[in-house]
Amino acid sequence: MENTEQQLSPNPKAPAPIVEGPSLFERARRRLQHAAEYLHVDADAYEKLSYPQETLSARLMVRMDDGSLRLFAAWRCRYDDTRGPTKGGIRYHPSVTMEEVIALAFWMTFKCAVVDLPFGGGKGGVSVDPTALSHTELERLSRAYARAFSRFIGPDRDIPAPDVYTNSMIMGWMAHEYGVIVGEQTPAVITGKPIVLGGSLGRDDATGRGGYVVLRHLEKRLGLVPEKSSIALLGFGNASYHCARLLHDDGYRIVGVSDSQGAIYDPDGMDPYRVMEHKSTTGQVAGAPTNGNRKEITNDELVECECDNLAPGALENQIHRENAANVKARIIFELANGPTTPGADDILNEKGIMVIPDILANAGGVVVSYFEWAQNRAGYYWTLDDVHSRLIQIMRPAADLTWEIHQDKKTDMRTAAYVLALQRISESLHARGTRAYFRT
Ligand code: GLU
Repeated sequence: MENTEQQLSPNPKAPAPIVEGPSLFERARRRLQHAAEYLHVDADAYEKLSYPQETLSARLMVRMDDGSLRLFAAWRCRYDDTRGPTKGGIRYHPSVTMEEVIALAFWMTFKCAVVDLPFGGGKGGVSVDPTALSHTELERLSRAYARAFSRFIGPDRDIPAPDVYTNSMIMGWMAHEYGVIVGEQTPAVITGKPIVLGGSLGRDDATGRGGYVVLRHLEKRLGLVPEKSSIALLGFGNASYHCARLLHDDGYRIVGVSDSQGAIYDPDGMDPYRVMEHKSTTGQVAGAPTNGNRKEITNDELVECECDNLAPGALENQIHRENAANVKARIIFELANGPTTPGADDILNEKGIMVIPDILANAGGVVVSYFEWAQNRAGYYWTLDDVHSRLIQIMRPAADLTWEIHQDKKTDMRTAAYVLALQRISESLHARGTRAYFRT
């Protein structure tokens, strides 16, 4: 295991100007630079947030079912712990890199601050195609992750959770493995666990529900009328499905959904429950029943379809310089982390398309993770109604404050959300006192 603190600038006192480049992290940092221009951020906060605090990389050794040994590259980044223990999911994906993990940890730092959680930001990842592993291989890999990072994580240090291609079952294995290592039941070390291992009610649909709460709360300001509004979702995973079904129940027309194998579009709408039934039996959204004439289209075509709202879920960079000009939606609602590149943002802003940013729109997941952590620490468990009403109590003020900054500073919603987060992180940094900066 090596400790790979990422060096991104040869002289940390003089960060290089950030330009749009191929690097995901550089692109993510551009948002910080942009927000800092609106707020007279002191140099210390800007400097502190320009670099990840610490990143650990490991090779996970896994005995495969056929007896062979395989090594998987894995990382965990604690981007910034100014506001509390670092928090963020673990992603299993064949294309995960350390740089992506750092960018995702950066977003978590700002996301937790936008919704005012007592957490900093972190993220983990394993370069693996989990669909190619057997159940037992997946379990061995997940336990190997918990062992490799057992000294890096902890309920007061860094608290993982699910992300793309990880779920409650995996969190349960990791929590158990961690407990065995430290010799104590420590459910608060990880969130998104199965209910029977200390998971919270309402965590499973929290990301989609949080998005739904934000969209419905901003509805009047965005000029949306449920019965007259349509939404297309890029992706149909956990967050997209739950957001779609809640909006559908309130009268929104779901006109398009997609998965890695293709997309479907129907201007007359579709019932997301039936689409999910179809996906569960066939493994894809293609061919799912819709209300009128279903069109099978490509994912690229779905980005450019006729709809009022476009909600990119799943992975990064789905809306970029090449397709942003063709977006017809009035509102982009980011259920994924980093689905819009900064280059696309410029084009969308020019076209007057509003982007409700990821760090607000998909924060519901980490909010209920915070509830789970709090319940584990108290040893007292809440009802589902409690979880739902407390989620609303957190999401609505975050949406209101972001909106107010957007209006006051005449800036886009993304910059407004970053300004809000930056203000909060900066305050905490100063409250620590200047000596803290020099403590090693
Ligand atoms: N992976 C989710 C996110 O990107 C949830 C993180 C968490 O619950 O800690 O926000």
